[in-house]
Amino acid sequence: MAHELPPLPYACDALEPTIDKQTMTLHHDMHHGAYVKNLNAALEKHSGLAGKSAEDLIRDLNAIPEDIRAAVRNNGGGHVNHTMFWKIMKPKGGGDPGGPVADVIHKTFGSFKDFQAKFNDAGAKQFGSGWVWLAGKANGEVQIITTPNQDNPLTQGLYPIFGNDVWEHAYYLKYNNRRPEYLAAWWNVVNWDEINQRFAAFKAGKAAHEPALAHR
Ligand code: MN
Repeated sequence: MAHELPPLPYACDALEPTIDKQTMTLHHDMHHGAYVKNLNAALEKHSGLAGKSAEDLIRDLNAIPEDIRAAVRNNGGGHVNHTMFWKIMKPKGGGDPGGPVADVIHKTFGSFKDFQAKFNDAGAKQFGSGWVWLAGKANGEVQIITTPNQDNPLTQGLYPIFGNDVWEHAYYLKYNNRRPEYLAAWWNVVNWDEINQRFAAFKAGKAAHEPALAHR
């Protein structure tokens, strides 16, 4: 079964003014669409991988045949990253987090404000294209990391609790080169309910043996 582009869970103008309609349309339909198309094209050469979820493909890149490894890394990663990204945002989102993810943020970073500052700083400093994440470690702790390109924390044995896309395609039409302004505004559309569900999946240890991010 081929990988499929999941529909946006809201209208393409629903996150205005934080994310403008044109950026959202291009980002979902064209960029994410291309990752799915290119992932499927790469996998055509290796029918044995047809049953694997995108998460499983990028979890162990060394198991991917060398001739398609880079394509799977970039496009499989792009597919997993963006499938998460649409769901961890929502209209009228934002505010302070609640639930267990708020507890771990307070415990690890002192306060939500301090966490946001560190997360935004890491995202601003990611050189070139990439992502900034709150990632879960095998011992249950969490940390802020950045990844280049479409690399996902799963490839490093970490759990992607949530991340923000700092590729220029995510913000340039509205924010131009002002990435820090985009990073600061993005919190207004964050969906803490969805992030708490992902955090619960991480705490339940689902990352290791089932595609907690399954979308198909
Ligand atoms: Mn993107």
